[in-house]
Amino acid sequence: MRITKDFHIHNCISKDGTGSFDDIAAAAKSAGLTKFAITNHSFNHKYGRWENDYEFVRAECKRVGAVFGIEADIYRKDGRLGGVRGREFELVVAGFHRSPNWGRAFFGTKKGNTQMYINTIQKNKIDILAHLNTYIKVDCKAVAEVAASRGVLIEINGKRVDFTHQEFLDMQSTGVKFIINSDAHCPSGVGKPTAAYEFLKGVKFNPKQIVNLAK
Ligand SMILES: [Zn+2]
Ligand SMILES: [Zn+2]
Repeated sequence: MRITKDFHIHNCISKDGTGSFDDIAAAAKSAGLTKFAITNHSFNHKYGRWENDYEFVRAECKRVGAVFGIEADIYRKDGRLGGVRGREFELVVAGFHRSPNWGRAFFGTKKGNTQMYINTIQKNKIDILAHLNTYIKVDCKAVAEVAASRGVLIEINGKRVDFTHQEFLDMQSTGVKFIINSDAHCPSGVGKPTAAYEFLKGVKFNPKQIVNLAK
C-alpha cells in the first residue's frame, strides 16, 4: 500500500512540529509523493500562533511546491470554524482538538458532537475532515452523509484511527470519499501513514473511494 499525495503535514511553524519547508519538500520527494500540503495548526490553537507569519508561510509553500493549507479547529456548536480568521488557504483540513476546546460545555453527548460537525461542514468550505472520532465521538455515518453531499473527504489518519471497521463500512456505504494522510509532525513521517495502512488491512475497503491510494 502506498499513497500518492499527503495532505496533512505539520512543520516547524506548528510549535509541536519540526522540519523546515525544504526538509518537508525533500521528504515528500523521497516518499514518492506527487503532491503534498503543509497544514499547520490554526491561529487559535496553542501550537498555531503563526498568524503574523501568514504571508511568509504562504510564500514558502509556493517556493517548495507545497499546497498552502491549514488544520483548522472544529470548535463551536454553531459551526464556526476556529482559527482561520478570514484568511484564505488553498486547502482546509478541519479537526477537533483538545486545544482550544478542552472543557467547553457542549462535549459529552454524541448527538451534540455530531451536530457540531455537521454544522461546521455545512457552513464552511472544508476539504478534509481530519481524525474523525478522535477526542470526541460522533455518529460517523451521519457525518459522512453530509460530508459526501458537500464533497468533503474523510481522513484515515496515519498516526491513529479512532473509528471502528464497522463505522468505516457505514461511512463507505454513503459513497463518501476518503483520503489517507500522515499527519506527520516531522519530515521522517511524511508520506508514511502507518496506522492507516494497518487499519485498512483488516477491512473490505473500496479502493475507488480512497482518493490517494497508489494503483
Ligand atoms: Zn489534528
Ligand atoms: Zn494535524
